[in-house]
Amino acid sequence: MTIRMGYWDCPSCGNKKNLGPNPTCSGCGRPRGPNIPFYTDDSAPVVEDPALVAQARAGADWKCKYCNADNRAGVMDCHHCGAGPDGSVRRQEKYVALGPPPKKGVDAKIIIAIVLGVLGVLGFGIWFLFGRTTSLSVTVESAAWVKSVEVEQKELKRDAAWQDEVPANARVVGKETKGRSKKVQEGTKKVKVGRKDLGNGMFEDVYKEEPNYVTKQVDDTWVRYEVEVWEKKETLKEETTDGSEPKDPASRFKPGGDRRLGKSQNAAVFQLKGSDGKRYTFEVDVDKEGAGAVTKYQIGKSYTAKVNTLGAVLALGP
Ligand SMILES: [Zn+2]
Ligand SMILES: [Zn+2]
Repeated sequence: MTIRMGYWDCPSCGNKKNLGPNPTCSGCGRPRGPNIPFYTDDSAPVVEDPALVAQARAGADWKCKYCNADNRAGVMDCHHCGAGPDGSVRRQEKYVALGPPPKKGVDAKIIIAIVLGVLGVLGFGIWFLFGRTTSLSVTVESAAWVKSVEVEQKELKRDAAWQDEVPANARVVGKETKGRSKKVQEGTKKVKVGRKDLGNGMFEDVYKEEPNYVTKQVDDTWVRYEVEVWEKKETLKEETTDGSEPKDPASRFKPGGDRRLGKSQNAAVFQLKGSDGKRYTFEVDVDKEGAGAVTKYQIGKSYTAKVNTLGAVLALGP
């Protein structure tokens, strides 16, 4: 494992980048205190000298309880005042995870600004089309209570896909071997994930084994298959215009092995004529609002509609 040189900055004289293992400042000669942090980066030299490597491996420095100077592990007398390590406190070894690698080329801040800009424009667009409303005077031309239900039919769909992408419930019709470029794992690779502050002015790079993926041209199986899907076939509908509840359209449904009921709707549907001469539709969910919704707006009467940019009525009020 790679040992790397660390540094520390002197708070007394401001001297930067004192070599990590040095216990005194090369600028003013004062001893490094136990709270002075070490730092390093990938450009710091790799420690190769066997004596220094052994020192790095020996453990964290200890703090002299009399003068606060940092001392190397294994040294029995404080380099500053000569006291022994009896009852002294050692520095902590610390693991520091590496952040994501810096993006090359475009600055991350610029990307964030672009993303925020696009989101802002999209948000405005969605609001402009769906949310922005104008008030319009409308007259109710007709009112209906509509119940509908979709009928779906099971159908056999033919499709084809690579073997590992075929749906689980598919029935295989045919197979053939074809070339395909595919990501496959080939051994592992060492990835640097962080470094350990050894507490003595040196650092150790920390690696992890990760799967190594390569794109390869491989022979794979191309599968033709049939799969059952439910497709919408028709919509059964019952409608009244006198305020009475329509029959349940599902009562006309003839159950069979390959047919089933799908989505249903129970709505009051109002046809409106706007003061702009255009016609609009307003629907109220009766399941949600109750049967009173059907007679809430009367034919021939005028109301105020909130109409969005796409011409949909979002609300109808007095
Ligand atoms: Zn100094
Ligand atoms: Zn001391």
